[in-house]
Amino acid sequence: METHFSQEQLKDKDNKSSEKIFRKCVHCGFCNATCPTYQLLGDELDGPRGRIYLIKDMLEKNKPANEKIVKHIDRCLSCYSCMTTCPSGVNYMHLIDHGRNHIEKTYKRPLGDRIIRNMLSITLSKSINFRIVAILTKFIKPVSFLLPKKLRKMISFMPNKFPRKTLPKMKIYKSQKKKKPVARVALLTGCVQKVLSPQINEATIRLLNRHNIEVVVPQGIDCCGSLNHHLGKNELANKTFKKNISIWYDEYLKNGLDAIISNTSGCGTTLKDYGFIFRSDNNFKKKSKKISELTKDISEYLNENVKLNFDENKKSEKKYQIAYHSACSMQHGQKIHDIPINLIKKTGNNVLNIPDGHLCCGSAGTYNLLQSDIAQELLKKKIYNIEKINPQFIATGNIGCITQIAHGTRIPIVHTVEVIDWFTGGPKPEILRKI
Ligand code: SF4
Ligand code: SF4
Repeated sequence: METHFSQEQLKDKDNKSSEKIFRKCVHCGFCNATCPTYQLLGDELDGPRGRIYLIKDMLEKNKPANEKIVKHIDRCLSCYSCMTTCPSGVNYMHLIDHGRNHIEKTYKRPLGDRIIRNMLSITLSKSINFRIVAILTKFIKPVSFLLPKKLRKMISFMPNKFPRKTLPKMKIYKSQKKKKPVARVALLTGCVQKVLSPQINEATIRLLNRHNIEVVVPQGIDCCGSLNHHLGKNELANKTFKKNISIWYDEYLKNGLDAIISNTSGCGTTLKDYGFIFRSDNNFKKKSKKISELTKDISEYLNENVKLNFDENKKSEKKYQIAYHSACSMQHGQKIHDIPINLIKKTGNNVLNIPDGHLCCGSAGTYNLLQSDIAQELLKKKIYNIEKINPQFIATGNIGCITQIAHGTRIPIVHTVEVIDWFTGGPKPEILRKI
């Protein structure tokens, strides 16, 4: 794709990177074929190629975003299915991030939108805020039908009760074995996840400890920053990124870290991008690159570093039919697809293939709250495809997908790590107790 940035514009590091990406695009349109919003809405501007043109036009002409551009950019899920399909290696993720940042700087959203986006930013990026709001919404739920649609939707996703925690809060979870640990890893416990589903972190810690791996949860790290990043709130996101990078890097230098484990693929994708985000920042360039290199999704880490001790008794007890839902941030963002499937297969269970598995379930961070109609359509398709293969339960590696899919079906859904933990000596997940 031809570009027309001036030399002056190219002095800006973001313009410079985006220009290189635009030049890779040969406008073939292959990406449209696998874009969920293009499939649903059939408008060129609701597909990746159209959005690339919109972003290029805004940046090249240095023009402020307008209502039309914002509408089509906002409708993008950031599912990155287009990146998997693109034969030219166009990094759409960096373009859409740049576009969103430009929108945030140059466009004043209607008041209602600003309020909702700020509410989401404040509520979801800190676990304590999320917990407080979740408690308050319990009282609002019975009268939520009186509220505007978007608020109603947000409230419907709030939990009715909080699962019981079974592990005490600690900075270091030591292996129970007497031997010296074989590795030391940091765990990103997340903001929303640890409130909604603490059992996911507990399964991760138990599983790693059982395999003689020490797990550290450094104080001061809560959200990975991706929520604000995807809302285009770069100042807030960068503050979180820098805090996290400093804490982890300090831990790495002082006590040593073999990896930083993410068990939420949405967060893992952002952590792996820290290096790119701070590529031109002299204070953070080296540190952020190291943090990105250390980051591993839990499935990736288990596959590369751990010889799993499967419980042979459990393996022979019963064979479950498990549908594996590959989160977009996992399969498209991190290019991890077969690893979790193979790990689940090693438990002795059957993994069922979900038709159209490359398509998003509609969760996509805050998308299901901000674009609820499109998200609902995508959820319906996903549930249709899951129910037609008749699994006993669903496994996936992202809390956003777990929450979204659980909203559409009675089939229980768990995190992949809960399945691995269960079949290597951990407890059966509570939600599966009846099957
Ligand atoms: S598939 Fe890649 S090269 Fe083709 S239009 Fe889409 S982004 Fe551009
Ligand atoms: S990220 Fe997903 S929704 Fe956005 S353009 Fe690419 S395929 Fe379409």
